[in-house]
Amino acid sequence: MKVTLFGTGYVGLVTGTCLAEMGNRVLCVDVDAGKVARLKNGEVPIFEPGLSPMVKRNFESGRLDFTTQAEPAVHHGEVIFIAVGTPPDEDGSADLRYVLEVARSIGQHLDRYAVVVNKSTVPVGTADKVRATIAQALAERGAVIPFDVVSNPEFLKEGDAVEDCLRPDRIVIGSSSERATQVLRKLYAPFNRNHDRTVVMDERSAELTKYAANAMLATKISFMNEIANIAERVGADVEQVRRGIGSDPRIGYHFIYPGCGYGGSCFPKDVQALERTARTVDYDARLLGAVEAVNHAQKGKLFELIERHYGGALKGKTVALWGLAFKPNTDDMREASSRRLMEQLWAAGAKVRAFDPEARAETTRIYGERADLTLCEDAYEALDGADVLAIVTEWKAFRAPDFARIRDVLKDPAVFDGRNLYDPAQVEDMGLAYYGIGRGRSL
Ligand code: NAD
Repeated sequence: MKVTLFGTGYVGLVTGTCLAEMGNRVLCVDVDAGKVARLKNGEVPIFEPGLSPMVKRNFESGRLDFTTQAEPAVHHGEVIFIAVGTPPDEDGSADLRYVLEVARSIGQHLDRYAVVVNKSTVPVGTADKVRATIAQALAERGAVIPFDVVSNPEFLKEGDAVEDCLRPDRIVIGSSSERATQVLRKLYAPFNRNHDRTVVMDERSAELTKYAANAMLATKISFMNEIANIAERVGADVEQVRRGIGSDPRIGYHFIYPGCGYGGSCFPKDVQALERTARTVDYDARLLGAVEAVNHAQKGKLFELIERHYGGALKGKTVALWGLAFKPNTDDMREASSRRLMEQLWAAGAKVRAFDPEARAETTRIYGERADLTLCEDAYEALDGADVLAIVTEWKAFRAPDFARIRDVLKDPAVFDGRNLYDPAQVEDMGLAYYGIGRGRSL
């Protein structure tokens, strides 16, 4: 099939590439000319495992191409995806500016029936707005062209995006049109060979499904962080509690890791946006507000522990920081916990020596060159001249470090483990002070 994707970010580029991999002819359009030029040059602007060779392979075969031009892109696709960003507006609700801009371009250039598929995470009712915007643009041209708008939220996880896209847990199709549903069933058939993963529903339910999924996952994390904070105060170890509750199949082990807060481009903004949506229909979503508040506090947890360790005297200290990305296997630093920690340390007069396997360039893009930040090429290099070590992102390479080396290099051998990667007793036996999240001994 001929497919167009608006937006070549994490979602658009991965989806477009995976659709090309299945034999479709895919044209990706982005307003960022620099990004399009890099992609046409065989350079993938984001880090996502497995993505780069797949983009190259499909680009070289002619099944995948990139453009900045909306008109040929709209003419190309029988299916036109909208996969642009929906960042938070000033009040936390989703900013639909980019989505509706694309809808307008589609209406301006549509020349035959197409299925317009909204993949961006958007508030309930957006399919209606997209439909109305396209209809308006068509009417302005005096054109009468049939089209359908479908809500098809994306559930891929950064860091596993290619794998998730090729083998999705489910494919939600929100549509009131049988014709459009059939087109999407055909497009997704290669992803459904093992068993049918499609869940068809109405558009509003599909839009809410995406927010409900992210809000549930964020709730699990904030819930565990709440338990961690109680554990810390009552002298219990939340890691033992985690194993104790995870063994109940109704609870399960997934997504109940306590830590220094969730970040990323999705959970923070989606929880907020859902809460704002609830407000617009006169519902006070108290649980969502609490999920957000707990996470906000949790992102300050490592700083709180380091500050307490030094009795508030952080000026002139240097903290080695392992992990900058908001989670492993990505270079994405949107809302990353590392950012809050670094900014708090800088404000307190401390310096940071940081290492992340993939997010160095992104860190430089965000913070530029500064005297109180040194980006290192290697985890152990970050320890040179540092007082203490803080771990913010649970990259696999940090799971079994050489504690003797850490102890010998740090001026004040102490580990602040923001992801509870280590056994406190093992670290302490090596002669380091250990601080974790909710481990009953940090107070
Ligand atoms: P992103 O910021 O990485 O990419 C968005 C892209 O859209 C950018 O390259 C931008 O230049 C482009 N764009 C903006 N306006 C455009 C226009 N008028 N025409 C063409 N391109 C335009 O965003 P993302 O992380 O891929 O997220 C996209 C959407 O998918 C968001 O709504 C997000 O909430 C949702 N989502 C993201 C993830 C994720 O893990 N990143 C997962 C599921 C859903």
